[in-house]
Amino acid sequence: MPPYKLVSREYQKENTIIKLGEITIGGGNVCVIAGPCSVENREQLVDLAVQLKEMGVSILRGGVFKPRTSPYDFQGLGLEGLKILAEAREIAGLPVITEVLDIREIEVVCRYADIVQIGSRNMQNFSLLKEVGKIKKPVLLKRGLSATLEEWLSAAEYILAEGNRQVILCERGIRSFETYTRNTFDINAIPAVKQLSHLPLFADPSHGTGRRELVGPVSKAALAAGADGIMVEVHPDPAKALSDGPQSLKPRELEIMLNELSNFRISFNQKVSA
Ligand code: PEP
Ligand code: MN
Repeated sequence: MPPYKLVSREYQKENTIIKLGEITIGGGNVCVIAGPCSVENREQLVDLAVQLKEMGVSILRGGVFKPRTSPYDFQGLGLEGLKILAEAREIAGLPVITEVLDIREIEVVCRYADIVQIGSRNMQNFSLLKEVGKIKKPVLLKRGLSATLEEWLSAAEYILAEGNRQVILCERGIRSFETYTRNTFDINAIPAVKQLSHLPLFADPSHGTGRRELVGPVSKAALAAGADGIMVEVHPDPAKALSDGPQSLKPRELEIMLNELSNFRISFNQKVSA
């Protein structure tokens, strides 16, 4: 057995499938998570959430506790942001995901969110991993900035070992020598992790590239490689976004991309089965 026993395919052959109301995560059902990097205000989020729902997005994202490189950058709206997320969830009818940065925030985040996100910078925060292993909600675990697959899967093991089997993995790019892109999306990780683990696997082409014009093609590549879904940042006015504007799509751009992706998947599946 590998060090990430419960997470491994050896331990469980069938794909883990996570049910969230009517939504199925994993097992080849493509699921789209979209929303702004940060929740900025009520009107903006509610308006965006309604548009996303109409486009067929399954889950609304929005950060309220932000892991910013500089302490002088926007840190997120905290509790106020959680309340806005919950309101958008009710109005648009979409489950919501948001990041938890600290053990002290787990309880309040669980009160408002349907899925709890552990960000890249906390992938090896073992005390945080153990605590989210005790909650009854799905956890989306992003790959660390420079984590190997074994380190990432072992981090997931911490959550499963505490009893929470509802873990979704998310490849979001790793640090490399390349600076043209913010990170280097590791396409290898998609088929490799699908072979190594039964857990659902998402791709985040927004953080994986840092450039909005690359989000569509990298989403396509990730889905072709076997990802169970994508997480994409969207903002009504990316130039004015309080975080991650350069990698955020406008709602209309996301709509076009999603149409392209569904056509692509249909023709791709036909070619594969032909
Ligand atoms: C995010 O999803 O906005 C985020 C901060 O992601 P990551 O942890 O992958 O940098
Ligand atoms: Mn972001």
